[in-house]
Amino acid sequence: MQKPKFETLAIKSIENKMMDVEPVSTPIYLASTYKRNTDGSYNNDFIYSRNGNPNRTIVEQSIAQLEQGQFAFAFSSGMAAISTILQSLKSGDHIILPNDIYYAIKKLMEDVFQRWNLSYSLVNMSNLLEVEKAIKPSTALIWIESPSNPQLKISNIKSIAKIAHKSNALCVVDNTWLTPVFQNPLKLGADMVVHSTTKYFGGHSDVLGGCIVLNNNDLADKISSIQSLSGAVPAPFDCWLIARGIQTLFLRISKQTENAHKLATFLESHPKIDKVFYPGLKSHPQHLLAKSQQTGFGAMLSVLIKSTEKNAFQISTQLKYFTTATSLGGVESLVEHRKSVEGENSPTPSNLLRVSVGIEHIDDLIADWQQALS
Ligand SMILES: *Cc1c(COP(=O)(O)O)cnc(C)c1O
Repeated sequence: MQKPKFETLAIKSIENKMMDVEPVSTPIYLASTYKRNTDGSYNNDFIYSRNGNPNRTIVEQSIAQLEQGQFAFAFSSGMAAISTILQSLKSGDHIILPNDIYYAIKKLMEDVFQRWNLSYSLVNMSNLLEVEKAIKPSTALIWIESPSNPQLKISNIKSIAKIAHKSNALCVVDNTWLTPVFQNPLKLGADMVVHSTTKYFGGHSDVLGGCIVLNNNDLADKISSIQSLSGAVPAPFDCWLIARGIQTLFLRISKQTENAHKLATFLESHPKIDKVFYPGLKSHPQHLLAKSQQTGFGAMLSVLIKSTEKNAFQISTQLKYFTTATSLGGVESLVEHRKSVEGENSPTPSNLLRVSVGIEHIDDLIADWQQALS
Protein backbone atom coordinates (compact mmCIF):
# COMPACT_ATOMS: atom_id res chain seq x y z
CA MET A 1 0.00 0.00 0.00
CA GLN A 2 1.19 3.54 -0.70
CA LYS A 3 2.11 5.91 2.14
CA PRO A 4 -1.08 7.59 3.44
CA LYS A 5 -1.63 11.22 2.37
CA PHE A 6 -2.07 14.18 4.74
CA GLU A 7 -5.87 13.89 5.12
CA THR A 8 -5.69 10.20 5.96
CA LEU A 9 -2.75 10.70 8.31
CA ALA A 10 -4.62 13.45 10.12
CA ILE A 11 -7.36 10.91 10.93
CA LYS A 12 -5.26 7.83 11.62
CA SER A 13 -2.52 9.49 13.68
CA ILE A 14 -5.10 10.71 16.20
CA GLU A 15 -7.57 7.81 16.27
CA ASN A 16 -7.86 5.77 19.46
CA LYS A 17 -4.37 5.55 20.88
CA MET A 18 -5.01 3.59 24.06
CA MET A 19 -1.76 3.80 25.94
CA ASP A 20 -0.54 1.12 28.26
CA VAL A 21 -0.76 3.31 31.37
CA GLU A 22 -2.56 2.97 34.67
CA PRO A 23 -4.06 6.38 35.55
CA VAL A 24 -5.38 6.54 39.12
CA SER A 25 -8.51 8.32 37.93
CA THR A 26 -10.80 7.06 35.18
CA PRO A 27 -10.32 8.58 31.73
CA ILE A 28 -13.38 10.01 30.00
CA TYR A 29 -14.41 7.74 27.14
CA LEU A 30 -15.68 10.29 24.65
CA ALA A 31 -16.74 7.71 22.09
CA SER A 32 -20.07 7.31 20.35
CA THR A 33 -19.07 4.01 18.73
CA TYR A 34 -16.67 1.10 19.33
CA LYS A 35 -14.57 -0.98 16.96
CA ARG A 36 -15.72 -4.51 16.20
CA ASN A 37 -13.27 -7.42 16.51
CA THR A 38 -12.44 -9.68 13.55
CA ASP A 39 -14.64 -12.45 15.00
CA GLY A 40 -17.60 -10.03 15.08
CA SER A 41 -17.54 -9.54 18.86
CA TYR A 42 -17.11 -6.28 20.78
CA ASN A 43 -14.82 -5.81 23.80
CA ASN A 44 -16.94 -5.85 26.94
CA ASP A 45 -20.04 -5.56 24.73
CA PHE A 46 -19.50 -1.85 24.07
CA ILE A 47 -21.05 -1.26 20.64
CA TYR A 48 -22.57 2.21 20.62
CA SER A 49 -22.74 4.72 23.48
CA ARG A 50 -26.52 4.94 23.63
CA ASN A 51 -26.43 1.26 24.67
CA GLY A 52 -23.43 1.60 26.93
CA ASN A 53 -20.35 3.65 27.71
CA PRO A 54 -17.55 2.79 30.17
CA ASN A 55 -18.10 5.95 32.24
CA ARG A 56 -21.80 5.14 32.50
CA THR A 57 -21.07 1.53 33.50
CA ILE A 58 -18.75 2.75 36.27
CA VAL A 59 -21.45 5.03 37.71
CA GLU A 60 -24.13 2.34 37.41
CA GLN A 61 -22.06 -0.34 39.11
CA SER A 62 -21.06 2.03 41.88
CA ILE A 63 -24.60 3.21 42.64
CA ALA A 64 -25.93 -0.39 42.51
CA GLN A 65 -23.41 -1.35 45.21
CA LEU A 66 -24.11 1.72 47.35
CA GLU A 67 -27.90 1.17 47.19
CA GLN A 68 -27.37 -2.58 47.75
CA GLY A 69 -29.23 -3.42 44.57
CA GLN A 70 -28.41 -5.79 41.74
CA PHE A 71 -28.93 -3.44 38.80
CA ALA A 72 -28.59 0.30 38.28
CA PHE A 73 -29.38 2.37 35.19
CA ALA A 74 -28.10 5.92 34.74
CA PHE A 75 -29.99 8.67 32.92
CA SER A 76 -29.42 12.22 31.73
CA SER A 77 -31.55 13.67 34.57
CA GLY A 78 -33.69 12.60 37.49
CA MET A 79 -36.80 13.31 35.40
CA ALA A 80 -35.49 11.06 32.59
CA ALA A 81 -35.16 8.23 35.13
CA ILE A 82 -38.64 8.93 36.48
CA SER A 83 -40.14 9.05 32.96
CA THR A 84 -38.56 5.67 32.27
CA ILE A 85 -40.34 4.14 35.27
CA LEU A 86 -43.65 5.59 34.04
CA GLN A 87 -42.95 4.32 30.50
CA SER A 88 -42.48 0.83 31.91
CA LEU A 89 -46.17 0.81 32.89
CA LYS A 90 -49.00 0.04 30.48
CA SER A 91 -51.97 2.05 29.29
CA GLY A 92 -54.80 1.83 31.83
CA ASP A 93 -52.53 1.47 34.86
CA HIS A 94 -53.22 3.53 37.97
CA ILE A 95 -50.55 5.12 40.17
CA ILE A 96 -50.70 6.40 43.73
CA LEU A 97 -48.60 9.52 44.24
CA PRO A 98 -47.85 11.59 47.35
CA ASN A 99 -49.92 14.81 47.37
CA ASP A 100 -46.71 16.73 48.02
CA ILE A 101 -44.66 14.96 45.32
CA TYR A 102 -41.79 16.78 43.53
CA TYR A 103 -43.92 19.11 41.45
CA ALA A 104 -42.42 18.29 38.02
CA ILE A 105 -43.54 14.66 38.44
CA LYS A 106 -47.16 15.72 38.97
CA LYS A 107 -46.88 17.99 35.93
CA LEU A 108 -45.37 15.15 33.89
CA MET A 109 -48.39 12.98 34.77
CA GLU A 110 -50.82 15.77 33.86
CA ASP A 111 -49.16 16.93 30.64
CA VAL A 112 -47.82 13.68 29.20
CA PHE A 113 -48.78 10.40 30.79
CA GLN A 114 -52.47 11.14 31.27
CA ARG A 115 -52.66 11.25 27.46
CA TRP A 116 -51.15 7.76 27.51
CA ASN A 117 -54.03 6.71 29.75
CA LEU A 118 -52.14 6.42 33.01
CA SER A 119 -54.33 7.65 35.86
CA TYR A 120 -53.26 8.71 39.32
CA SER A 121 -54.50 9.54 42.80
CA LEU A 122 -52.77 11.99 45.12
CA VAL A 123 -52.71 10.92 48.77
CA ASN A 124 -51.12 11.89 52.06
CA MET A 125 -48.42 9.20 52.22
CA SER A 126 -47.98 9.69 55.96
CA ASN A 127 -51.46 8.23 56.45
CA LEU A 128 -51.41 4.48 55.72
CA LEU A 129 -55.22 4.22 55.76
CA GLU A 130 -55.42 6.83 53.02
CA VAL A 131 -52.89 4.88 50.96
CA GLU A 132 -54.86 1.64 51.34
CA LYS A 133 -58.12 3.36 50.43
CA ALA A 134 -56.64 4.72 47.21
CA ILE A 135 -55.81 1.23 45.87
CA LYS A 136 -57.80 0.18 42.77
CA PRO A 137 -57.73 -3.11 40.84
CA SER A 138 -55.61 -1.31 38.22
CA THR A 139 -53.11 0.13 40.70
CA ALA A 140 -49.66 -0.79 39.38
CA LEU A 141 -47.40 1.43 41.41
CA ILE A 142 -47.14 3.38 44.66
CA TRP A 143 -44.67 6.26 44.69
CA ILE A 144 -42.89 7.39 47.87
CA GLU A 145 -40.79 10.47 48.45
CA SER A 146 -39.41 10.45 51.96
CA PRO A 147 -38.65 13.04 53.26
CA SER A 148 -41.12 14.92 51.09
CA ASN A 149 -40.67 18.29 49.46
CA PRO A 150 -40.85 20.94 50.89
CA GLN A 151 -42.43 19.98 54.23
CA LEU A 152 -40.19 16.98 54.95
CA LYS A 153 -42.97 14.56 55.78
CA ILE A 154 -41.76 11.01 56.37
CA SER A 155 -43.51 7.99 54.82
CA ASN A 156 -43.33 4.50 56.29
CA ILE A 157 -41.53 2.66 53.49
CA LYS A 158 -41.86 -0.85 54.97
CA SER A 159 -45.62 -0.55 55.52
CA ILE A 160 -46.34 1.07 52.16
CA ALA A 161 -44.28 -1.56 50.33
CA LYS A 162 -46.41 -4.23 52.07
CA ILE A 163 -49.63 -2.47 51.01
CA ALA A 164 -48.32 -2.33 47.42
CA HIS A 165 -47.30 -5.98 47.32
CA LYS A 166 -50.65 -7.16 48.76
CA SER A 167 -52.23 -5.63 45.64
CA ASN A 168 -49.55 -6.80 43.19
CA ALA A 169 -48.33 -3.25 42.75
CA LEU A 170 -44.75 -2.01 42.78
CA CYS A 171 -43.34 0.35 45.37
CA VAL A 172 -40.93 3.01 44.13
CA VAL A 173 -38.95 5.30 46.42
CA ASP A 174 -37.38 8.58 45.33
CA ASN A 175 -34.28 8.55 47.56
CA THR A 176 -32.76 11.80 46.24
CA TRP A 177 -32.87 13.69 49.54
CA LEU A 178 -31.19 11.08 51.74
CA THR A 179 -29.00 9.09 49.33
CA PRO A 180 -27.86 5.55 50.23
CA VAL A 181 -25.68 7.12 52.92
CA PHE A 182 -28.81 7.51 55.08
CA GLN A 183 -31.50 5.27 53.58
CA ASN A 184 -31.63 2.01 51.61
CA PRO A 185 -35.25 1.64 50.41
CA LEU A 186 -34.61 -1.73 48.71
CA LYS A 187 -33.74 -3.17 52.14
CA LEU A 188 -37.03 -1.76 53.46
CA GLY A 189 -39.03 -3.61 50.80
CA ALA A 190 -39.16 -1.15 47.90
CA ASP A 191 -38.95 -2.59 44.37
CA MET A 192 -37.20 0.36 42.77
CA VAL A 193 -35.17 3.31 43.98
CA VAL A 194 -34.86 6.43 41.87
CA HIS A 195 -32.41 9.31 42.31
CA SER A 196 -31.80 12.71 40.87
CA THR A 197 -28.00 12.37 40.92
CA THR A 198 -27.99 16.09 40.04
CA LYS A 199 -28.24 16.69 43.78
CA TYR A 200 -26.02 14.96 46.38
CA PHE A 201 -24.28 12.45 44.09
CA GLY A 202 -22.99 15.22 41.81
CA GLY A 203 -22.74 17.52 44.80
CA HIS A 204 -21.29 20.60 43.06
CA SER A 205 -24.30 22.03 41.18
CA ASP A 206 -22.63 21.48 37.81
CA VAL A 207 -24.21 18.36 36.30
CA LEU A 208 -27.64 16.77 35.71
CA GLY A 209 -28.21 13.06 36.17
CA GLY A 210 -30.58 10.38 37.37
CA CYS A 211 -30.62 6.68 38.08
CA ILE A 212 -32.83 3.72 38.89
CA VAL A 213 -31.73 0.83 41.14
CA LEU A 214 -33.57 -2.48 41.45
CA ASN A 215 -33.25 -6.23 42.00
CA ASN A 216 -35.91 -7.83 39.80
CA ASN A 217 -34.58 -9.34 36.53
CA ASP A 218 -37.70 -8.83 34.39
CA LEU A 219 -38.09 -5.27 35.57
CA ALA A 220 -34.39 -4.64 34.89
CA ASP A 221 -34.83 -5.89 31.29
CA LYS A 222 -37.74 -3.49 30.79
CA ILE A 223 -35.87 -0.50 32.22
CA SER A 224 -32.70 -1.37 30.29
CA SER A 225 -34.59 -1.54 27.02
CA ILE A 226 -36.30 1.83 27.58
CA GLN A 227 -32.96 3.34 28.61
CA SER A 228 -31.15 2.38 25.41
CA LEU A 229 -34.09 2.74 23.00
CA SER A 230 -35.50 6.03 24.31
CA GLY A 231 -31.99 7.37 24.62
CA ALA A 232 -32.22 9.70 27.64
CA VAL A 233 -28.70 8.60 28.56
CA PRO A 234 -26.04 10.66 30.33
CA ALA A 235 -22.94 11.88 28.49
CA PRO A 236 -19.57 10.33 29.43
CA PHE A 237 -18.36 13.61 30.98
CA ASP A 238 -21.54 13.89 33.06
CA CYS A 239 -20.98 10.33 34.31
CA TRP A 240 -17.39 11.21 35.11
CA LEU A 241 -18.54 14.18 37.20
CA ILE A 242 -21.09 12.03 39.07
CA ALA A 243 -18.42 9.37 39.66
CA ARG A 244 -16.08 12.01 41.06
CA GLY A 245 -18.92 13.23 43.29
CA ILE A 246 -19.60 9.74 44.63
CA GLN A 247 -16.09 9.56 46.12
CA THR A 248 -16.85 12.45 48.50
CA LEU A 249 -20.62 11.85 48.92
CA PHE A 250 -20.32 10.40 52.42
CA LEU A 251 -18.12 13.23 53.71
CA ARG A 252 -20.22 15.96 52.15
CA ILE A 253 -23.66 14.77 53.23
CA SER A 254 -22.42 13.91 56.74
CA LYS A 255 -21.07 17.45 57.21
CA GLN A 256 -24.12 19.01 55.54
CA THR A 257 -26.41 17.04 57.85
CA GLU A 258 -24.47 18.08 60.94
CA ASN A 259 -24.79 21.72 59.82
CA ALA A 260 -28.51 21.32 58.98
CA HIS A 261 -29.28 19.87 62.40
CA LYS A 262 -27.54 22.76 64.17
CA LEU A 263 -29.18 25.36 61.95
CA ALA A 264 -32.61 23.76 62.45
CA THR A 265 -32.12 23.82 66.24
CA PHE A 266 -31.11 27.50 66.12
CA LEU A 267 -34.01 28.50 63.86
CA GLU A 268 -36.55 26.63 66.00
CA SER A 269 -35.70 28.88 68.95
CA HIS A 270 -35.75 32.13 66.93
CA PRO A 271 -38.72 34.42 67.70
CA LYS A 272 -39.27 35.33 64.02
CA ILE A 273 -39.59 31.70 62.95
CA ASP A 274 -43.01 30.14 63.24
CA LYS A 275 -42.04 26.56 62.44
CA VAL A 276 -39.09 24.45 61.32
CA PHE A 277 -39.59 21.27 59.28
CA TYR A 278 -36.62 19.01 59.97
CA PRO A 279 -36.97 15.29 60.78
CA GLY A 280 -34.05 15.44 63.21
CA LEU A 281 -35.95 17.75 65.58
CA LYS A 282 -37.96 16.09 68.36
CA SER A 283 -40.82 18.44 67.42
CA HIS A 284 -41.11 16.78 63.97
CA PRO A 285 -44.30 14.67 63.99
CA GLN A 286 -42.49 11.65 62.47
CA HIS A 287 -39.15 12.05 64.21
CA LEU A 288 -39.29 8.47 65.54
CA LEU A 289 -40.29 6.97 62.19
CA ALA A 290 -37.40 8.84 60.55
CA LYS A 291 -35.07 7.46 63.22
CA SER A 292 -36.30 3.93 62.61
CA GLN A 293 -35.82 3.80 58.83
CA GLN A 294 -32.98 6.30 58.25
CA THR A 295 -29.45 6.40 59.61
CA GLY A 296 -29.28 10.20 59.26
CA PHE A 297 -31.77 13.05 58.99
CA GLY A 298 -30.39 14.71 55.86
CA ALA A 299 -29.38 18.26 55.02
CA MET A 300 -32.68 19.75 53.82
CA LEU A 301 -35.01 21.81 55.98
CA SER A 302 -37.85 24.28 55.56
CA VAL A 303 -39.01 27.14 57.77
CA LEU A 304 -42.20 29.14 58.09
CA ILE A 305 -41.33 32.78 58.66
CA LYS A 306 -43.62 34.85 60.89
CA SER A 307 -44.46 37.29 58.09
CA THR A 308 -46.00 37.80 54.69
CA GLU A 309 -44.93 36.21 51.39
CA LYS A 310 -43.13 39.38 50.30
CA ASN A 311 -41.19 39.51 53.56
CA ALA A 312 -40.30 35.84 53.40
CA PHE A 313 -38.85 36.31 49.94
CA GLN A 314 -37.00 39.45 51.08
CA ILE A 315 -35.43 37.60 54.00
CA SER A 316 -34.16 34.96 51.58
CA THR A 317 -32.43 37.65 49.51
CA GLN A 318 -30.84 39.18 52.62
CA LEU A 319 -28.91 36.01 53.38
CA LYS A 320 -25.30 36.36 52.28
CA TYR A 321 -24.11 32.78 52.45
CA PHE A 322 -27.29 31.17 51.07
CA THR A 323 -27.69 31.69 47.33
CA THR A 324 -31.30 32.21 46.23
CA ALA A 325 -31.59 29.39 43.71
CA THR A 326 -33.59 26.25 43.13
CA SER A 327 -32.13 22.72 43.44
CA LEU A 328 -30.21 21.26 46.38
CA GLY A 329 -27.45 18.96 47.50
CA GLY A 330 -24.44 21.00 46.41
CA VAL A 331 -21.54 22.02 48.64
CA GLU A 332 -22.91 25.57 48.77
CA SER A 333 -25.97 26.53 50.83
CA LEU A 334 -29.10 27.50 48.89
CA VAL A 335 -32.39 29.06 49.94
CA GLU A 336 -35.62 29.10 47.98
CA HIS A 337 -39.06 30.60 48.23
CA ARG A 338 -40.91 27.50 47.01
CA LYS A 339 -44.40 28.94 46.48
CA SER A 340 -43.27 31.45 43.83
CA VAL A 341 -41.36 28.69 42.02
CA GLU A 342 -44.20 26.16 42.07
CA GLY A 343 -46.82 28.67 40.92
CA GLU A 344 -50.32 29.78 41.91
CA ASN A 345 -51.80 26.29 42.41
CA SER A 346 -49.02 25.20 44.72
CA PRO A 347 -50.21 24.04 48.15
CA THR A 348 -46.95 25.31 49.72
CA PRO A 349 -47.44 28.03 52.38
CA SER A 350 -46.42 31.47 51.08
CA ASN A 351 -44.16 32.14 54.08
CA LEU A 352 -42.12 28.96 53.57
CA LEU A 353 -38.42 29.04 52.73
CA ARG A 354 -36.64 25.83 51.79
CA VAL A 355 -32.98 25.49 52.69
CA SER A 356 -30.32 23.20 51.28
CA VAL A 357 -27.47 23.33 53.77
CA GLY A 358 -23.90 23.22 52.47
CA ILE A 359 -20.48 22.53 53.96
CA GLU A 360 -19.65 26.11 55.07
CA HIS A 361 -18.78 26.76 58.74
CA ILE A 362 -21.92 26.47 60.87
CA ASP A 363 -21.10 29.63 62.90
CA ASP A 364 -21.21 31.69 59.69
CA LEU A 365 -24.46 30.06 58.56
CA ILE A 366 -26.17 30.77 61.90
CA ALA A 367 -24.84 34.34 62.05
CA ASP A 368 -26.16 34.88 58.54
CA TRP A 369 -29.72 33.90 59.51
CA GLN A 370 -29.44 36.01 62.63
CA GLN A 371 -28.64 39.15 60.58
CA ALA A 372 -31.23 38.38 57.86
CA LEU A 373 -34.00 37.92 60.45
CA SER A 374 -33.11 41.02 62.50
C1 LIG B 1 -34.50 17.36 41.62
C2 LIG B 1 -35.42 16.25 41.94
C3 LIG B 1 -35.99 15.46 40.92
C4 LIG B 1 -35.76 15.75 39.46
O1 LIG B 1 -34.44 15.54 39.07
P1 LIG B 1 -33.71 16.34 37.86
O2 LIG B 1 -32.33 15.83 37.93
O3 LIG B 1 -33.87 17.80 38.13
O4 LIG B 1 -34.42 15.94 36.60
C5 LIG B 1 -36.81 14.43 41.31
N1 LIG B 1 -37.07 14.16 42.60
C6 LIG B 1 -36.54 14.89 43.60
C7 LIG B 1 -36.87 14.55 45.01
C8 LIG B 1 -35.71 15.97 43.31
O5 LIG B 1 -35.20 16.70 44.32
